[in-house]
Amino acid sequence: MTEKTWNVSLTEIQKLQALDRQAHLHSFTDPQAMVQAPPFLMQKAAGSQVMGQGIQLLDAMAGLGNVNIGYGRAEMAEVAYGVMRDLSYYHTFAGITNPWAARLTELLMEIVPSQFNKVFYANSGSEAVETAIKMARLYWKREGREDKHLIISRDFAYHGSTIASSALNGLRVMHEDFGTETSEDALHVEAPFWYRFGGEMEFEEFGRYAAKCLEEKIIEVGADNIAAFIGEPVQATLGCIIPPKSYWPEIERICRDHDILLIADEVVTGLGRTGEWFGQETFNFSADIMTLAKGLSSGYQAISATLFNDRVASVIEGEQGVLQHGFTTSAHPVACAVAAQNIKILQKEKLIERIRDDIGPYFKTKLEELLDIPIIGEVRTCGLMAGIELCQDKETRDQYPLEYYLCQHIAQAALETGVIVRPAGNVIVTCPPFIFTHEDVDALVRRLRRAIEFVHDRLK
Ligand code: PLP
Repeated sequence: MTEKTWNVSLTEIQKLQALDRQAHLHSFTDPQAMVQAPPFLMQKAAGSQVMGQGIQLLDAMAGLGNVNIGYGRAEMAEVAYGVMRDLSYYHTFAGITNPWAARLTELLMEIVPSQFNKVFYANSGSEAVETAIKMARLYWKREGREDKHLIISRDFAYHGSTIASSALNGLRVMHEDFGTETSEDALHVEAPFWYRFGGEMEFEEFGRYAAKCLEEKIIEVGADNIAAFIGEPVQATLGCIIPPKSYWPEIERICRDHDILLIADEVVTGLGRTGEWFGQETFNFSADIMTLAKGLSSGYQAISATLFNDRVASVIEGEQGVLQHGFTTSAHPVACAVAAQNIKILQKEKLIERIRDDIGPYFKTKLEELLDIPIIGEVRTCGLMAGIELCQDKETRDQYPLEYYLCQHIAQAALETGVIVRPAGNVIVTCPPFIFTHEDVDALVRRLRRAIEFVHDRLK
């Protein structure tokens, strides 16, 4: 953005807000609230900072947990510009490809867990999940076991906003308006959410217990009816729920024993967020299908990927006939080039190693200082993602009523102190860019503390 557009006048800002408010229906926004307050006009971003309406904020959410390499990188813009001039668009239907799709595929095959040898491209995380579901069904159909159609997900899961992916979401409010809670195709089991549901159990013991809930559900419903289990290695969106180390290997064993496909939704965790390239490495398991999106392009372009191991890919490819699935902009040349450049930056600047060895541990240590505040019950971190859980009583871990909207108030107060975090029920989530410095972590913790204390001081 040029200086000119950044320095727009107040009248211009108001005009843009009015234009937007007239006809733009916003994602995950209360339209009634937009009648009361104009939209916030975000105008510029660089590194870990975002700016709008004359205000500069430290973005401890990396947009929506996706701007991993930070904002405003000139090399990303240059790559996009060059490709747009060479091949602004061509589709990949009917066996056509482009150089950038081919090169991204080569690069992905070098970095993904070794069982994945095939990739399908789409535009969003929801579409990647949708693709995973359809391919799991296709796999079983081709195996002559069409009854295996159900997908099992978990409470507190977030898998997307299209009908099939949102049916997997584990929060009732997301289903009520669309009838997806009655979807016969998605079932839910308990999340490995120790702080809320662990009771007297030890952390690792609870991991095994939570995995057992899946096994019980499979036995109840019948493995002959189940196509796959899907899970985020860390349940990021709805509270940064970090499972015990005992959880995922046990889930993998259960899926294998009952002949159910395992889908790792790595839309958030993929490409470094956990301090390893993939969540499967952090939590020591191997899925049959994996989804990637957010960190694939760091938000510079809309692109997602679904990857398959040989078992699934060989069956999908094993029969003649057109694969009845795809998107106009699948493997878009510009998006593929930008994603490849993003991966090269992660590699060249060793950003993931830096999370593991330096900024991740510092982020954990500093955030844990917040535990001295009476209403902070748990600070859980994994790589560069954290959930800061509120409680009414540290002993009993009792929650405040959700109707108090305490985390919304804290996130609002944090904006006043200059930092962006996200509320998720009684959890404050932060998911900063990988380029976060020690000073950025200090600023996040200092500003968040002021916001939490501000709200705590007013609690009656
Ligand atoms: N899967 C996971 C784990 C996510 O966190 C999200 C989005 O937050 C999605 C899927 C959906 O991605 P998108 O919003 O790009 O459709």
